[in-house]
Amino acid sequence: MKKLILTSLLLPLLMFSLSSLQAQPQAQPLHEAQPHAFQTQPQSRLQPQPQTQPQSLQAAQPQPQAQELAVAWEELTSADFKKATGLAQGVCIIPIGVIEKHAQHLPLGTDVYAARHIALTAAKGEYAVVFPFYFAGQIFEARHQPGTIAYSSRMLYDLLDETCREIARNGFDKIIIVNGHGGNTNFLQYFCQTQLEGERNYAVFLFTPTGDKETDRKITELRKSTIGGHADEEETAVMRVIRPDLVHMDRVALESGRDQARLPLPGTYTGIWWYARYPNHYAGDATGSDPEIGRLSLDSSVAQLQKVIGMLKAETGTLELQYRFFKEAGEH
Ligand SMILES: [Zn+2]
Repeated sequence: MKKLILTSLLLPLLMFSLSSLQAQPQAQPLHEAQPHAFQTQPQSRLQPQPQTQPQSLQAAQPQPQAQELAVAWEELTSADFKKATGLAQGVCIIPIGVIEKHAQHLPLGTDVYAARHIALTAAKGEYAVVFPFYFAGQIFEARHQPGTIAYSSRMLYDLLDETCREIARNGFDKIIIVNGHGGNTNFLQYFCQTQLEGERNYAVFLFTPTGDKETDRKITELRKSTIGGHADEEETAVMRVIRPDLVHMDRVALESGRDQARLPLPGTYTGIWWYARYPNHYAGDATGSDPEIGRLSLDSSVAQLQKVIGMLKAETGTLELQYRFFKEAGEH
């Protein structure tokens, strides 16, 4: 995610990720804290170990049990899916990230991991269904870096639109987008605006966490740098909680995360701005990254998302107003 530079750094990375890149430099990544089925956990990378126990003993070992009702769409059986839509009371979450460089020390999928972690963890606390791995986001500004996946703008829109329509066809009428990439922010807000272009039987909400003062204060105390925005000490801390096996702290200083300020044009916004300032896709100094910052940020984001899920389950006004709007607009 492209985060913007937090000066106060109060908001959890999450928020960064949630909004970032565009308008002003702000930072924000999302994260995930607990291993979930979708992610490849460190264990899976272990080499197979020789079996030393007799068959009979192996059979006696506790085996993983199926969850009551998974929150991850792809983990549900088709039959259980019907139960899930009922339990979720029509709420489905799409965690959206992107595949882009995150300095030299974080994986390309950082934003997706963060968004998914927050969504999956929140949905386990306040039941909702979480859409599968989604990484089609706005990331043209990283096309010069290896590994970036930058789909065309029309495809980005159509894919998200069709994804929402498929989610609705499957029984949901409230879709929450949890954004893990700052460069998506403007696109996602525009996408929400375009939901009024034509009648539909569902509503799309963009999760916009605001942070909380106590968490912000604690994070500020723990931070060692005063710059940030992308792959910085906060986003790095989040990944050290979610997927520590993918964080290469020994590579943090291979490139500079300082603002290169190559195009000082105050009073303007232009697409090349991020490249002009942070061509390495590193904004900040992650050297002193403390995992505790990641935990604080994640906990705050998860708590806020849980509240939003609960609020939307109980809410009927959005769809009622949408229907009224479409009727007045001559859609009926
Ligand atoms: Zn990121």
